Amino acid sequence: MKYIMLIADGMADHSLPQLGGKTPLQAAHTPNMDRLAKEGFSGLLQTLKPDLPVGSDVAILSLLGYSPEKCYTGRGPLEAASQGILLKSHEVAFRVNLVTVEEGKMKDYSAGHISSREARILIDALNEKIGSNNIRFYPGVSYRNLLILRHLNGGKGRLPHTTPPHDIIGEPINKHQPRGRGANLLKKLMKHSQEILSSHPLNKKRVKKGLPPANMIWIWGGGFKPKLETLEKKYGVKGGVISAVDVINGLGRLLNMKIIKVRGATGDIHTNWKGKAKALIKALRNLDFGLLHVEAPDEASHMGDPNLKIKAIELFDREIVGRIADKFPEARIFVGCDHVTSTLLRTHTHDPVPFLLWGVKKKNSLSTFSEVSARFSGVFLKNGEELMKIFLRG
Ligand SMILES: [Zn+2]
Repeated sequence: MKYIMLIADGMADHSLPQLGGKTPLQAAHTPNMDRLAKEGFSGLLQTLKPDLPVGSDVAILSLLGYSPEKCYTGRGPLEAASQGILLKSHEVAFRVNLVTVEEGKMKDYSAGHISSREARILIDALNEKIGSNNIRFYPGVSYRNLLILRHLNGGKGRLPHTTPPHDIIGEPINKHQPRGRGANLLKKLMKHSQEILSSHPLNKKRVKKGLPPANMIWIWGGGFKPKLETLEKKYGVKGGVISAVDVINGLGRLLNMKIIKVRGATGDIHTNWKGKAKALIKALRNLDFGLLHVEAPDEASHMGDPNLKIKAIELFDREIVGRIADKFPEARIFVGCDHVTSTLLRTHTHDPVPFLLWGVKKKNSLSTFSEVSARFSGVFLKNGEELMKIFLRG
């Protein structure tokens, strides 16, 4: 048996006035998802938890039937895993953004999407000046870098509370410093980074060119190594992941799933849709379980563009869902999303999401696939464990 999860990031939404009160999923032409709903089982599913970040990392962990309350430790360890850095038990991984701060305020969470080449030079400078046996910075992609601390808070217990820099644009950074046990070290590193980076020749050059300087690091999203059973141990299946997003690849790596790279997978509407579907078809020759994730609907929602979102959903329906369902008529297929991304609010929300399962014994044969039909189905799964039970065995 093949098990396939097709996830369109942030596909679910609220009804939009620009679409005459419809959601983008309702407004989109999605013959394949509608057919699968008619032949399968669908309803609403709660993926997110009230006290955890409202993001894909938590939601996809949940979709895979893991309890985020027990397993999720932070974004840092997932990004580290995606880079091939596996934490030891006394190590903590934090996400480090290269940011632009002006007059004490957070101006840009990405330092003008600084290039990876420039970021590496600045990260090297930080290691040289403030790195040690217990403090190590790792360059990543563009403004997205990592910090691994050893023995912070004795290597266990609660970590300092931190704030993502994209949430505090325009606000004074002093108001959003790390808090709690171990926060002093993070504050000290951030302060030192300002001195080191502001005077760095590379930043002086950027200012001269009119580019925002990467004049500070912002540390957030820290976590210890999560304790995760591998997918094979938990379910007895060999799995693979196809995604352009690093936290999702990191999660896959921690679950010992195969990470399948696809040329031209960009994380937006211009992604290589067909290439992703083809890569999944190929990977499933040797695997039992394939997760394919596309980011485009989420991106369109953050841009506040309902028409682009509709286009992304239609491409997902045609290039991914249709192609995969035609190729694997005997498989069990999940189609859905990780979380709601509201095009009106341009951010993620905690609402339950519509899902559909095809090829399972359970059926309720809804006529379409949408937030509204899922709500009227009366089916409500309170977590991914319930979903996985039906997906794998029901
Ligand atoms: Zn998003």
